[in-house]
Amino acid sequence: MTDTGQTQEHQIVVVGAGAAGTSVAASLLRQQPGLDVAIVEPSDIHYYQPAFTLVGGGAYSLAKTARPQAQTLPTGARWVRAAVADLQPEKNTLTLSDGRTLGYQILVLAPGLKLDWDAVDGLREAIGRNGVCSNYDPSLAEYTWQCLQAFRGGKALFTQPSTPIKCAGAPQKIAYLAADYVRRKWLADNSKLKFYSGGSALFSVADFVPPLTQVAKRYNVALLMNHNLIAVNGARREATFRFTNSAGETTDVTETFDMLHVTPPQCAPDFIRNSSLANEGGWVDVDQHTLQHVRHDNVFSLGDASSLPTSKTAAAIRKQSPVAAANILTRLADKPLEAHYDGYTSCPVVTGYGKVMLAEFIYGGKVTPTLPLSPFKESRFYWQVKKRGLPPFYFDYMLKGKEGDLAHKAIG
Ligand SMILES: Cc1cc2nc3c(=O)[nH]c(=O)nc-3n(C[C@H](O)[C@H](O)[C@H](O)COP(=O)(O)OP(=O)(O)OC[C@H]3O[C@@H](n4cnc5c(N)ncnc54)[C@H](O)[C@@H]3O)c2cc1C
Repeated sequence: MTDTGQTQEHQIVVVGAGAAGTSVAASLLRQQPGLDVAIVEPSDIHYYQPAFTLVGGGAYSLAKTARPQAQTLPTGARWVRAAVADLQPEKNTLTLSDGRTLGYQILVLAPGLKLDWDAVDGLREAIGRNGVCSNYDPSLAEYTWQCLQAFRGGKALFTQPSTPIKCAGAPQKIAYLAADYVRRKWLADNSKLKFYSGGSALFSVADFVPPLTQVAKRYNVALLMNHNLIAVNGARREATFRFTNSAGETTDVTETFDMLHVTPPQCAPDFIRNSSLANEGGWVDVDQHTLQHVRHDNVFSLGDASSLPTSKTAAAIRKQSPVAAANILTRLADKPLEAHYDGYTSCPVVTGYGKVMLAEFIYGGKVTPTLPLSPFKESRFYWQVKKRGLPPFYFDYMLKGKEGDLAHKAIG
C-alpha cells in the first residue's frame, strides 16, 4: 500500500466481501501471498444466504448462516470498513462514503445486488407484519417461519418479480416448503396456495419446467405467470398484481391473503448503475467468459453485480472465482488472458422437507450435472448436501480460496 496525499493506493481493490469478493481475494492471496489486496466492505457480518430458504422453512437456524466478517475475510487482505460511493475508472480511483479516495492497479467489483423494496407500492411499510414475509433479508427470514406456523388454512401467495434476482429458484422453494408444511399439518383441504411470477416461464432452463410443474401440481399450487406484484396493503391483507397478456395489454388483479411471501424486485447497486462501468441494465459490463470489463481492461467483476448472463448464485461464483483470479494475475503480469468461465450455475430447488431437485447448467441452458444422478428427480441425498454439506464447503473451502473441484458434464 502507498499513500499519495489523499489517495491510498493498492495493487488490487476488491469491492464487497460477500461470496464473490471474499473467494476471489482469498484465491489471489493463496496464489501470491505478497499481493497488496484491499477489500472494501461496510458490513460486520457475512451471511451464508443460500440457507435463508431453510431458515424461512424452519429447517435451519439463522445464527448458523452468520459469521463475523473479521473471521471470513482472507488472511493478508486489508479490510477497508466503508462503502463505495462513486467510481472513477478513467482515473483508476474510487470514492468511499466517508470521502476517502482509493487508487488501484486492478479493480474487482463484487458488491452484490440491491433489493428494491420501494419498487412495489406499500411493500416497505408492509413487510415483516400482517403475514407479509420474505426470505430475501436475514432480518426477515425467521418471520417467514412464524407466518407458516401461524397459518391455519386460507390463502398463501408467493411472488417472483420480472427483474433478474439472486437464486431464481428461491421463490419456488419456499412455496413448495409451505405446501409440504400445509400438507403435513392436514391443512391442505382448506388452503389455497398460489405462485405469482412476473416472468413467462416457471424456470429459465426449459428442461426443468415440466418436472417443476409436476411438483406444483402435486401440491395443488396454482401457477400464475406474467403477473407482477405492484402493490401490497398489509393492514387489509391485499396484494395487487399486474397481468400482461401476449398482446402486451395489462389488467390489475387484487387478491386477499393470509400469508404473502415476497421476492422483491432486484437491481444493481446505485453506485454501479450510475457509473460508466454499467451496461444498459445497470450491471457491471464484463466479458461473459473472461470476467474482464469490456472497456476497462484493469476492471473485473463476478457474482450478482456482474452482467454475466447466467443465474445469480453462490454456486456460479464457485466457478467464476478461479477464472477471475487467474485472469487478474495474468493481467498483472501483462500477459493475454486464458481462463474461461462457461456460465456454470446451479440451483438446488427445494421441493419439500427432505427433497431437492438439483438444477445445474451452463450458458445456453445446457444441463450439466456434476454427479451421475438424474437432475430432474427429487433427491433426499441432495437435501442432505444442501443442508449439511454446502454450508461448511462454503465457509471452509470456497471462502478460503480453495479451488479443486469436481467437473460438471453435459448430458445426452
Ligand atoms: C433466499 C436466497 C436463497 C438463495 N439460495 C441459493 C442457493 O440455494 N444456491 C446458491 O448457490 N445461491 C443461492 N442464493 C444466492 C447467493 O446467496 C448469491 O448469489 C451470492 O451470495 C452472491 O454473492 P455476491 O458476493 O455477488 O453478493 P453478496 O454475497 O450479496 O455480497 C455483496 C457484498 O458487498 C457488500 N457491499 C454492498 N454495497 C457495497 C458498497 N457500496 N461498497 C462496498 N461493499 C458493498 C455487501 O455488504 C456484501 O457483503 C440465494 C440467495 C437468497 C437471498
